[in-house]
Amino acid sequence: MPGISTSTICKSLGFQQGMFHMYQRSNERPNVQFNLLPLTHTLGGEEFPDLIKYLLSNRKAIIYCATIELCWRVYIFLLRLLPLGPRQLICVRLYHAMCWPDENERTVALMHDDPMCQIIVATVAFGQGFNVRTLLDSIQQAGRVGRDLSTTGRAVVLVQKAAYSSAEKYLASGGSASRAPTKTSKSLTTMNNEKAMMLTNKGCFIAFFNKLFGNNTPGSTLDCIALPRRLPCSACLPRFSGSLVFELSPLPSGPERLRPFSVPQPQPTTAAAYRPKNSRLMRKMRSAADAELRNFGLQVQKLERD
Ligand SMILES: [Zn+2]
Repeated sequence: MPGISTSTICKSLGFQQGMFHMYQRSNERPNVQFNLLPLTHTLGGEEFPDLIKYLLSNRKAIIYCATIELCWRVYIFLLRLLPLGPRQLICVRLYHAMCWPDENERTVALMHDDPMCQIIVATVAFGQGFNVRTLLDSIQQAGRVGRDLSTTGRAVVLVQKAAYSSAEKYLASGGSASRAPTKTSKSLTTMNNEKAMMLTNKGCFIAFFNKLFGNNTPGSTLDCIALPRRLPCSACLPRFSGSLVFELSPLPSGPERLRPFSVPQPQPTTAAAYRPKNSRLMRKMRSAADAELRNFGLQVQKLERD
């Protein structure tokens, strides 16, 4: 990124002002449609309905989460949407630092080679190393999608509504509100100047990124309609009169097409009240299960020691 990051690196390499030439390529991705959208739900629950409309398009996608714990909740939510069976574990995969290395390698291989492997849920930090050319959609981490320039990628960054007001406060305070997330903080990530500028940006996102990264190809600072771009960003989309087409990921041919996701039906909130009395979990049953689990834990610890 131009500015202090570049000048710091140049200085540490011993490059002096006016004594070297720097060649810079544009990092704009004309084959990726960028979206920055507010979440309609919080990230603290068990349901993530904002993901569904992207997954229904049956394209290979990676969902980036801030923490391993959030990865698990998203993973369980997606598994529950799939028909029961072994395909569940192929269709949705986890990829983070706590998975075994061979398991993570298998996940990347499945995403490359298995048409039934559709979604990877990964942590932002660990998923930085991804280089999956077949990846078509990326949710939360825009830079890792559309590596294959012959395909059309889609990058979706879903932001908690509170982040917009945090960004405004951050900029209003001149950046002094920056802090690491605390245990009591609901925020999963820290605010920084670029992020705050992106969240408060009212115009075209591609023009904004081009200015931020110093990309100066012809028309780089024009908006997606004025230029025009084939894939307008979410800020320019309301003024776009063409049609956006995202091709399906290759799936097995034949009568059984992969249609794994469906919009979940709202569950009756009083479901527990209709549960037959003899299948309810009683206090006595709970304490018996606790004792069994404790016993099992001790046996596992003993086996590990031996
Ligand atoms: Zn735009």
